[in-house]
Amino acid sequence: METEIIVISDVSEKEKIKKAADVLRRGGLVAFPTETVYGLGANATDENAAKKIYAAKGRPSDNPLIIHVADPADAEKYAVTSECYYRLAKAFMPGPLTVILPKKETIPASVTGGLDSVAVRCPQHPIANEIIRECGVAIAAPSANISGSPSPTCAKHVIHDMTGRVDMIVDGGASEIGLESTIIKLDGNCATLLRPGAITCDALSCVCERVEISHAVTEELAANEKPLSPGMKYRHYAPTSPLVLLDGDDDCVISFLRRAQNREHCTILCYDEEAELLRFERLIPIGKRDDIAAQSAKLFSALREADTLDGDVIYAHLPKKEGLGLALYNRMIRAAAHTIKKV
Ligand code: AMP
Ligand code: MG
Repeated sequence: METEIIVISDVSEKEKIKKAADVLRRGGLVAFPTETVYGLGANATDENAAKKIYAAKGRPSDNPLIIHVADPADAEKYAVTSECYYRLAKAFMPGPLTVILPKKETIPASVTGGLDSVAVRCPQHPIANEIIRECGVAIAAPSANISGSPSPTCAKHVIHDMTGRVDMIVDGGASEIGLESTIIKLDGNCATLLRPGAITCDALSCVCERVEISHAVTEELAANEKPLSPGMKYRHYAPTSPLVLLDGDDDCVISFLRRAQNREHCTILCYDEEAELLRFERLIPIGKRDDIAAQSAKLFSALREADTLDGDVIYAHLPKKEGLGLALYNRMIRAAAHTIKKV
């Protein structure tokens, strides 16, 4: 398949937005930027179009897709909403929040992996929002990477993974947040957090009566456990070389890394402040120590870069689980297959 790449730098480029929307409406696949990561879109009401997503990504067919709408109220057409949904919408939408709701018939089973619920998000990125609006239907869009590899946060990553597999790639610059949306399931006014993201538990607590964190957010699933979200059971975000997370004070981590650089062919993801304390080879600064947003925005591109450096092992700090740090922690422990080393 030939993949057309178009650059859209502004929503005023109406012709290009229309062109992308036309491909989607006709059942094609279009990758486009969102504020979280790049999405791989298809018409969510077209069973065959949605099926193409699984083939292009190599995604297991029981791992359901998030549907994207231009306005929070458009969810009505596809899902059974609630008062709590609208309170969340008022507070956080458009934005990086996905809410799982009971599904309506308009969404085919291929989109939801046979579940009777559907995940709904209204993206804030102006180009994503405008393409969806122009389509006039919900767009199913998982991250635009090959299943299992780090999510794409710029067009270069999508071009690397998806050329020849999709009809069109829209290059709209880097994703601002760099981690996928927060996902919650609602039970009345109570929420269960299935995937942490930029909308934090504290923020959700201002709207929901209770926010419970699924244990799979921070812990490994038991061998025979059925997760609340099918995606929790799959290997994800993983670079090709093994990633090991270092748990200890910053001083202990630096001492460990200095020794490691002498005896191993390792790649290191470090804080910006630490770059000059270490040798230059295979060193990737991922943001200032206290700037979790910057580290989140850089994580996936750092993991992809680490792969090009060909180290035998990748070392990184184990993040703290507070605030946005919980999302970073969740992606990193999964990328590391829960390999944590005390130092
Ligand atoms: P991605 O599309 O790669 O951003 O991942 C979407 C995540 O949402 C996956 O982990 C899915 O398992 C999860 N998800 C989507 N729809 C549902 C649903 N109806 N119930 C539970 N989890 C869902
Ligand atoms: Mg994904």
